[in-house]
Amino acid sequence: MLKRVYGDIHDLLIDGRRIAAASGRSFETLNPATGEVVARVAEADAGDVDAAVRSARAAFEGSWSRMKASERGALLLKLADLIRRDEDELVRLESLDSGKTVSAIRRQDLPAVLDTLTYYAGMADKINGQVIPARTDALTYTMREPLGVVGAIIPWNFPLMIGMWKIAPALACGCTVVLKPAELTPLTALKIGELALEAGFPAGVLNVVPGFGKIAGQALVDHMDVDKITFTGSPVVGRQILQGAIGNLKRVTLELGGKSANIVFPDADFDAAAKAAGAGIFFNTGQVCSAGSRILVHESVYDEMVERLAARARSIRVGDPLEASTGMGPLVSEVQMKRVLNYIDIGRKEGASVVAGGTRHGKTGYFVEPTVFAGVRHEMRISQEEIFGPVAAVIPFKDEEEAIRLANGTVYGLAAGVWTGDIGRAHRFTRRLKAGTVWVNTYGPTDIRLPWGGARDSGFGREHGDAAIDNFTEPKAVWINTGA
Ligand code: NAD
Repeated sequence: MLKRVYGDIHDLLIDGRRIAAASGRSFETLNPATGEVVARVAEADAGDVDAAVRSARAAFEGSWSRMKASERGALLLKLADLIRRDEDELVRLESLDSGKTVSAIRRQDLPAVLDTLTYYAGMADKINGQVIPARTDALTYTMREPLGVVGAIIPWNFPLMIGMWKIAPALACGCTVVLKPAELTPLTALKIGELALEAGFPAGVLNVVPGFGKIAGQALVDHMDVDKITFTGSPVVGRQILQGAIGNLKRVTLELGGKSANIVFPDADFDAAAKAAGAGIFFNTGQVCSAGSRILVHESVYDEMVERLAARARSIRVGDPLEASTGMGPLVSEVQMKRVLNYIDIGRKEGASVVAGGTRHGKTGYFVEPTVFAGVRHEMRISQEEIFGPVAAVIPFKDEEEAIRLANGTVYGLAAGVWTGDIGRAHRFTRRLKAGTVWVNTYGPTDIRLPWGGARDSGFGREHGDAAIDNFTEPKAVWINTGA
C-alpha cells in the first residue's frame, strides 16, 4: 500500500527537493509487528549529508535570516495545521515504522508535537536581548543570535515527538536544520519535511537525511560547517558525538538513557501508585528513556506491589499496534527483542524471579510479554543497566536513606518518582534525588514548558521551555560609544 502512495523509494529531502541518494543506495524499513517491509528509503552517506549542510547554510545566510521572527512563528503554526490535516496518515506511518500503538500516538505523541509547534511559534518573536547599563560612556546591550546550522539526530522510540522537540525551537530561533532520523523509523521525519515545504518554509531550512548512524549520523557530527548537534539516543553514541564535535568545537546537547527509580512508600495512595508503576514501565513497550524501570517498594508493601504489578502485566493486551484496543505493541526490531530477552535471561541467572511474562509473545513480529522481576537486588545487571523494554525490576527498601541510596545508585540521572502521603518526605526527596525531573505522586508526564534532560550518563543540557532557546542561540554583546 505504501508503495502506491509514496513511490518505490522514499527519497532524501535536500534543498527543498526529494532526491535519491547520490550512491543510489537504499535500505528497508520493517513493520515490527510483522517483520514485513514497509518501504525502502534512500540511504544518505557523507556526500548527501554535505549537500544537506550546504543547503542549510545557504538558507541560513539567505532568506531565512532576513525573515521577520513573527513570520517564522507563522510558518510553524502553518506546519501544525498541516500536521492536523494529515494526522491519520502520520499516526499510521509512525505505528507501521516503529510498532508504537496508534492509541498512544494519538493520545500522547501527536498532541505533544502540536503543543511544541504552537509553543515555539509563539516564542519566535520573543527572543530578546537585554540592555545592561555597564558604563556611563556607552550604551551596552545584548542580542540573541541563532547559532546557524543545526544537526538533529534522533532515536526510534518517539520519532515524531522527539524530532519536533528539536526542529521547532531551532527553527523558531532562526537556525536551519539537517535532521537525521533513526534508520529504523525514517518515514514520519520525511513526511514532516514535506509538510514543512508545503507550509512555505524556504528550501534548505529543514533537510531530512535518513541513513545509518555510523555513516550519515557520523558525517553530520564530523561536518565542519555544522554549528550544533542536538542528539537524543544512547550514552555510547553520545560519547562518540562528543568526540566528533571536537573538530570545529560544535555545541552539543545530549539527551541519553536512564534507569529511573519509581519509589513507593506505604503512606502513598497505593492504588494510584501501583497503576502508575505499571504504566511507567510498560508504556511504549518500555522503550522510554525515563521509563520507571526500577520500582523501589517499601518492604512492608513489597509483596502486595509485586502481586499488583504482575496482575497488571498479565492484563495488558499485547498485539497489533494498528488496532485501537491494543495496550502494548512490539519492540522496534528483532535486535531489540533479542536484547530484551537476553536481559530477561540474565535476570533469571542473577537469581531474580519472573512473576509475570518472561518470554517472547507469539511467533511473528518482535513482541515480548510485559515482564515483572521480583527479588531483585540493587547490584544486579537488570537493576543497573538500561534494558529499554517492558521489564520491571521490583526492589525492596527499608527506610528513606536506603531508598535514596538505591535511587541515586546508577550511572544515570534522568528522572525519578516518589509516592508518599507525607509532604515533608516529598520535599526531602525532590531535593535529594539526582535526576533532571522528579515526579511526586505521579509518574511520567512531560511538558514542553518544563526543562527536560539529565546528568551523568543521561547526558547534559536541557530541552524544552526557555532552555531550548539558549540551545540554539548565543548572546552577542554590543558597545556603542556615547561619549562621556
Ligand atoms: P542510538 O544511540 O543507537 O541511536 C540514536 C541515533 O543516533 C540514531 O539516529 C542513530 O542512527 C544515530 N547514531 C548512531 N551512531 C551514530 C554515530 N556514530 N554518530 C552519529 N549518529 C549516530 O539510540 P537508539 O537505540 O536509537 O535509542 C535508544 C536510546 O535513546 C536509549 O538509550 C534511550 O534511553 C535514549 N533516549 C533518550 C531520551 C531522552 O530524552 N533522554 C529519549 C528517547 C530515547
